[in-house]
Amino acid sequence: MMSYITRLLTSSQEDIEYAAELIRQGELVGMPTETVYGLAADAEDPEAVKKIFEAKGRPQDNPLIVHIGDISQIEEYAHDVPDIAYKLAENFCPGPLTMVLPKRDRIPDVTSAGLDTVGIRIPGHKTARALIKASGKAIAAPSANLTGCPSPTTAGHVMNDMDGRIPAVIDGGSCPVGVESTVVSFEDGRIRLLRPGFISAEELSEFAEVIADRHITEAALDGEQVRSPGMKYRHYSPKANVTIIEGSSEEYLEYVNSRVGDGVFAMSFDSAAADCKIPCIPYGDTSEEQAAKLFSVLREFDEIGAKQVYAQCPSSNGVGLAVYNRLLRAAGFEIVKIGGSLKTDREGF
Ligand code: AMP
Ligand code: MG
Repeated sequence: MMSYITRLLTSSQEDIEYAAELIRQGELVGMPTETVYGLAADAEDPEAVKKIFEAKGRPQDNPLIVHIGDISQIEEYAHDVPDIAYKLAENFCPGPLTMVLPKRDRIPDVTSAGLDTVGIRIPGHKTARALIKASGKAIAAPSANLTGCPSPTTAGHVMNDMDGRIPAVIDGGSCPVGVESTVVSFEDGRIRLLRPGFISAEELSEFAEVIADRHITEAALDGEQVRSPGMKYRHYSPKANVTIIEGSSEEYLEYVNSRVGDGVFAMSFDSAAADCKIPCIPYGDTSEEQAAKLFSVLREFDEIGAKQVYAQCPSSNGVGLAVYNRLLRAAGFEIVKIGGSLKTDREGF
């Protein structure tokens, strides 16, 4: 792998032009989006896309999302686009929604990880849009973290993981959504939710029946086929062991307060933090706040050398399902259910 002196760019038009030229030359750029930072390359240049997999240490069978500027370009990269996809696009794009569609041949196999489909997204972030426009390219971009680390939501996070591995990162501040896009595919007029995100199952279900993929809340078995390859990896995991504690706030506090120990931390809602007797990093009260903070809080635990983190279980309604899904993976599906608190609201929508 090449080694670089990584430049931190601003979102000025001049810096975006510079980044766009890097993309056209087949190089990688760390790019802010409304969800998380992406590692951007020309989606139609197989050599450039290969560099993404190398820089991240990403398994070759994990497809990349292709970012375009406008709904009118969908058919340049995908075919047989169902009406329901256009309905969703009109309502949610530009925005944090990825639609898996049959791909055209111009999308190389390395980008789609050998699948005959491609995930297409039209980002809403001003800087991402400007980079797509200035480069004149469709941009393949997975999250700009090293595979296995929590996704980056600041340029600093990207620098932590990618310094020396890529030529430039554009600093666009903190990502407002904080979790990766909602990923959907389509089946006979129905929407299959492959990965939950800021656009919730409830919102999608206003347009068609939504089938939630089982792997959103369940671990894939070894060698089991999954519809969304990213779902089989444990990623988002900090170095600490993370355990999710499911129960009321009182039950959570009672559990963590009896677990004082070296390197033991609580990751509670803001409203419970004052009553935590062990060191605590709170991650918000509403699902939106929790989505925005989740990955940076997981990275903070790494920085302070946490060994064990007890996380207060988030809601699984609305955007909460995305938070729960990411936290489950960070915890390697380790969850302690206290009392009779088994939730039933996770069963459907
Ligand atoms: P990342 O860009 O790192 O958030 O990862 C993109 C994720 O989107 C992958 O891990 C898959 O789970 C999903 N994805 C992308 N393209 C496809 C596709 N063609 N079919 C199914 N899932 C996809
Ligand atoms: Mg990722």
